[in-house]
Amino acid sequence: MKILIVAISLSLFSMGAFAQKNTTKTDTKKAPAKTEQKTAASYRCPVCGATADKAGNCTKDKDVTLVKVGDYYCPDCYMTSTKPGKCTMCNVEMKKMETTSAKK
Ligand SMILES: [Zn+2]
Ligand SMILES: [Zn+2]
Repeated sequence: MKILIVAISLSLFSMGAFAQKNTTKTDTKKAPAKTEQKTAASYRCPVCGATADKAGNCTKDKDVTLVKVGDYYCPDCYMTSTKPGKCTMCNVEMKKMETTSAKK
């Protein structure tokens, strides 16, 4: 009979240990699992927002040149520039190309 009690208490103990492990796991939510972001995409299409890891034209918008993230582009004619300011073609304030679209 003693053995049975020991076995039960042992299993209870191990269960408790498991439960503790689980709670500690949820407690330490700091664990950076989300930090693994796609860093490859360094070019974006100003029209559809598609990303690419190299310069070129958008696969969907054939005549639109991809804008390098961090560079500026004209929302009207999609002319790109490394500096902020107005588009030399249509005098429109150029926008900065961000890695993600409109973060609030
Ligand atoms: Zn596009
Ligand atoms: Zn323009």
